Amino acid sequence: MAPMKYVVCVPDGCADEPVAALGGKTPLQAAHTPTLDVLAARGEVGRAAVIPPGMPPGSDVGNMSIFGYDPARFHTGRAPIEAAALGLRLDPDQVAFRCNLVTVGDDGTMVDFAGGHPGTEDAAAVIARLQARLGTDEITFHPGVQYRHIVVAPKAWADAECVPPHDLSDKPVVAPTGPAASKLQAVMDASRDVLAAARADGSPVTANQVWLWGQGPQPQMTPFRDAFGVEAGLVTAVDLVRGLGVLTDMDVVEVEGATGWYDTNYEGKRDAALAGLEAGADLFVVHVEATDEAGHAGDHEEKVRALENWDRRILADLVDGLDALGDWRLLLLPDHATPLELKTHTPDPVPYLLVDSRTDGPGGVYTEEGVADADALPGHQLLPRLLGR
Ligand SMILES: [Zn+2]
Repeated sequence: MAPMKYVVCVPDGCADEPVAALGGKTPLQAAHTPTLDVLAARGEVGRAAVIPPGMPPGSDVGNMSIFGYDPARFHTGRAPIEAAALGLRLDPDQVAFRCNLVTVGDDGTMVDFAGGHPGTEDAAAVIARLQARLGTDEITFHPGVQYRHIVVAPKAWADAECVPPHDLSDKPVVAPTGPAASKLQAVMDASRDVLAAARADGSPVTANQVWLWGQGPQPQMTPFRDAFGVEAGLVTAVDLVRGLGVLTDMDVVEVEGATGWYDTNYEGKRDAALAGLEAGADLFVVHVEATDEAGHAGDHEEKVRALENWDRRILADLVDGLDALGDWRLLLLPDHATPLELKTHTPDPVPYLLVDSRTDGPGGVYTEEGVADADALPGHQLLPRLLGR
């Protein structure tokens, strides 16, 4: 008998609130999703608290829950997960900081937390310059993507409160506080001269300093196969999610045209999942960012379209492909809500869907309203439930 196959589908930030532009419906209610509707009718729907009480509603926290790891126990910060995505391994006496290239105005306001959206190569040249000028035995600069980079520093440097730069947009910057604040401020101040010199030498990077935040040590996550007894694969275009895959030793598959944007290669992700499962993986995670981006943009049409793309371009043929492989179970849920009207994440519980190809569940409707009366389960308990544990 063919071994059971498991799929985890993550439409990032898809949960929402009723929207006037959609006639008072949520995107999940408004979207035409015939395959999802059939799956919900034969499965089990409910509510999941993917963001534990008191934790920030980030994709790092929410996806850690979805992967079956309790963020209250395993989450140490956002930067160490991104560092893992870049292939960096931290020593126990080290921490990683997110190092944004940012633009701060002469009046001390955070003009652009994304530093004018530099190209990745141009930014890498600037980060190399920062490493040459400011790198020491203690701290090192590591290039990432666009404005998002990493600084590795001694553990003691983590002892500071740092405000995320996107929370300071168009506001006066807030300096770090705490015992290590002066060290961090010194690096951020010194970076201004380095970036000014780079601009003087013709660098197109308009950012005028770095901003350090999101720090933490490498989380000690048990490899997925040891924690759950199954081999897992993952496809995503998002560094944070890829980092979780690296830290749990999943097989992280790259798909051409996976962009993290509306135009992502839905079919490519679906086919990567089916190919991975056919090649021997027991479980595969398919993550698509488009729903979250539409939420941040407040674009209800793109959010509905992204859900319809999930249905037509992933789920329809995924179900057929899974049927051809044998028995399967599927879990679908977002890592947090990104309501269109708020344009940012919320920590509210989200709807989940569990389907077993062998047995019909109580059935339901996969919408926010459809699960409104359900008690919220801790998000990290769903992965073991998917596996029948
Ligand atoms: Zn997210």
